[in-house]
Amino acid sequence: MEWWFHFPIVFWCLTISALGLIVGSFLNVVVARLPYEKSLIWPSSRCFVCYTKIRSFDNVPILGYLRLRGKCRKCGTPYSARYLWVEVGTGVAFLALFLAEIVFNWHGIPGIKYDYLGINGSVPPLQCWALFLYHAVLLSGLIAAAAVDAEHRIIPTPITYTAMVVGVIGGALMPWPWPQAAAVVNAIPPEITLWNHPDYIGKIPTGVQPWPFWGPTFAFAPPGSWKLGLLTSVIGALVGSLVIRVTKWLFETGFGREALGLGDADLLMMAGAFLGWQIPVLSLFVGAVAALVLKVLEAVLRPDDAPATPGTPAPLPSMASNENPRELPFGPGLAIGVVVTWFAWPWLGPRLQSAFFDAFTLTFLAAVMGVGLLAAALLLRRPAEVQQPVAAK
Ligand SMILES: [Zn+2]
Repeated sequence: MEWWFHFPIVFWCLTISALGLIVGSFLNVVVARLPYEKSLIWPSSRCFVCYTKIRSFDNVPILGYLRLRGKCRKCGTPYSARYLWVEVGTGVAFLALFLAEIVFNWHGIPGIKYDYLGINGSVPPLQCWALFLYHAVLLSGLIAAAAVDAEHRIIPTPITYTAMVVGVIGGALMPWPWPQAAAVVNAIPPEITLWNHPDYIGKIPTGVQPWPFWGPTFAFAPPGSWKLGLLTSVIGALVGSLVIRVTKWLFETGFGREALGLGDADLLMMAGAFLGWQIPVLSLFVGAVAALVLKVLEAVLRPDDAPATPGTPAPLPSMASNENPRELPFGPGLAIGVVVTWFAWPWLGPRLQSAFFDAFTLTFLAAVMGVGLLAAALLLRRPAEVQQPVAAK
């Protein structure tokens, strides 16, 4: 096959990457200005030291940064490498999302596959763009939230709330199992009245919203209706926020110290508005592992960043706390947790389906987790009390 036969897909991949770079460039402005509650559109990009306006050709993603070697053209102040990483990261993330969801149809949504070898395959169908753009908003929100949290230990609500509104509106417009026809749900044999039925494991039709908030769906919100889409998004947002707030409360009750931030709750709330409640709940566990891996990586890559003051107790191997600014923020780990869980869903979902659609198992698991978390926090409390005299002011 001649190389030019692949031109359409190469063209779309380049376009998507360029879009990702431009969005990444905008996210950098968000990350740099929102923590200081500055306007996003005025004034135009400036050096934050000498306030010289950055020329438009120096503001081109990646190239501008590389040509000036990350320094201000006028005063030579070095800019954070974050500018480069957020741009490159968003470009790569957009391309990966496009390849995974549209070209390879990772989630197996019929009709979403971009059949570029076919005659009509030069332009992805309209549903593809709706799905891609919707999920790209979530990715952008996650990247911006993680970058601000890594830098400032906060997650500004304008990022998470704005993306959440997009998530809820999109959910109502693209209700589960869209873009599949609602009729796919009618094809479920009538003897399957519960979605934890062994014969139905792994057979829930996937749409832009991976799963509805409950199955079988209720009569007042049938599959494909805006009510189901809206409910799935709103319940997803509520559960995402609650699961962090409950974890925070349990841990603080047992541990007696502040843990997690409400920004983390907002991050999972945003994810829930796009993905329903099941993925964010699981993201908390995957995110905790991801945060731990990030912490180990940080210790290995930047050993000089470790607490150096003699006599200072080492940060507890617990979740991020506002009392100790050196501890790793949870936002980046949580954002990675959401993305990993989301893309592992074709594998994870069927394995957890029997628990997720069984009210009794679900309640039991939640209770066990809650008690376990409280017990773990109480066990961790002891070393904290020993350290108290050192930390006392
Ligand atoms: Zn300057």
